[in-house]
Amino acid sequence: MIKRIAILGSTGSIGTQALDVIKQHPDAFEVAVLTAQSNADLLVEQAIQFHPSQVVIGDEAKYTFVKNALSGTAIEVLAGADALLEVVCYDHVDVVLTALVGYAGLLPTVKAIKAGKPIALANKETLVVAGALIMPLAREMGVPILPVDSEHSAIFQCLMGESHNPIEKVILTASGGPFRGKKREDLAQVTRAQALKHPNWTMGAKITIDSASLMNKGLEVIEAAWLFDVQASQIDVVVHPQSIVHSLVQFEDGSIKAQLGLPDMKLPIQFALGYPNRMQANFPRFDFKDYASLTFEQPDLETFRNLGLAFQALEKGGNMPCILNAANEVAVDAFLKDEIGFLQMSDLLANCMAQGTFLTSPSLEDYVNTDKTTRIMAQEWVSKLKK
Ligand code: NAD
Ligand code: MG
Repeated sequence: MIKRIAILGSTGSIGTQALDVIKQHPDAFEVAVLTAQSNADLLVEQAIQFHPSQVVIGDEAKYTFVKNALSGTAIEVLAGADALLEVVCYDHVDVVLTALVGYAGLLPTVKAIKAGKPIALANKETLVVAGALIMPLAREMGVPILPVDSEHSAIFQCLMGESHNPIEKVILTASGGPFRGKKREDLAQVTRAQALKHPNWTMGAKITIDSASLMNKGLEVIEAAWLFDVQASQIDVVVHPQSIVHSLVQFEDGSIKAQLGLPDMKLPIQFALGYPNRMQANFPRFDFKDYASLTFEQPDLETFRNLGLAFQALEKGGNMPCILNAANEVAVDAFLKDEIGFLQMSDLLANCMAQGTFLTSPSLEDYVNTDKTTRIMAQEWVSKLKK
């Protein structure tokens, strides 16, 4: 049976690669819905090529442009953030791929789960903010959360056939990003352009900065805790610059399973969309002859403070990871606008975590409020620095 897919964030790095995968498998996949925040030109181009039933443009000022461009087609055009809450529930949607960036993924994901839609989850921020709410809701609805993030896809694959075997540890690999080996004094002056140059992956701007600061690995630690029901103490991070071993699981007998492959997001995207089947693909194959050595080293938590802050937020629980995430979204945005320096991003996070109002067991509304108030606090801090 053909799976009809709604892609939230189809114009981004994950979204466009997902469309490449879908194009390769016309017998298996169809596009039901495409959404984008502001890249109306690309959204229109994708809609003409993949003819979804609906498209959503987040930026309402671009509605008329999209509407006119698709006027000769049967495609329905919607606009605004609330439209995302609607399209994920349609009967003609079989799977929702959350390829949008940041906190904006939370509410549409909650809606989709409540409507019983399986989630192919790229948007890790959703689990960072509200994993305590998402995972029980998905269990209650009998909805699978299929990880797209390469590390989590690797762990998910290692766990297949192991459902009755407890996990001793999960080991997340990290490339180390463009600043691996650098010390704090080196990072004080690094520029936006240097931080945007990732050695192994081409990704959206936010996750690329997160990778340079190791925040991405911190967010992934929290994501892994929720996806695989493990404690902070059961999660290790190891730096592996070649990005071939995508992550590992250690079981109670000491045995470790790993998943390997060339770094290409199309592989975990296709795995999540095709699950439970592995589908034929012509991606280039990994060849040991091309890699004389695969290396592993410890992350430098003194230089890359964000990773430690993420572990702290996970251990604290409640709305602390939500505070961390909101502060980080403001920090990355400010860094990308050259308003704050690279190291100041960590100061901002630590500041918000120390000053935010802590809630032990937040409701969905509490998460929404925490996100809002943390952003205001973080923005004030940025404004003070700019003066
Ligand atoms: P991107 O910036 O390239 O694309 C983001 C997409 O989301 C775009 O289509 C954009 O229009 C849309 N969008 C942006 N803001 C929005 C908003 N407020 N409301 C609705 N839509 C919005 O990002 P990306 O690199 O594709 O990453 C997407 C998600 O996948 C992130 O959560 C990221 O952490 C995760 N992820 C990405 C990669 C990767 O290789 N790019 C790998 C693992 C996980
Ligand atoms: Mg990842």
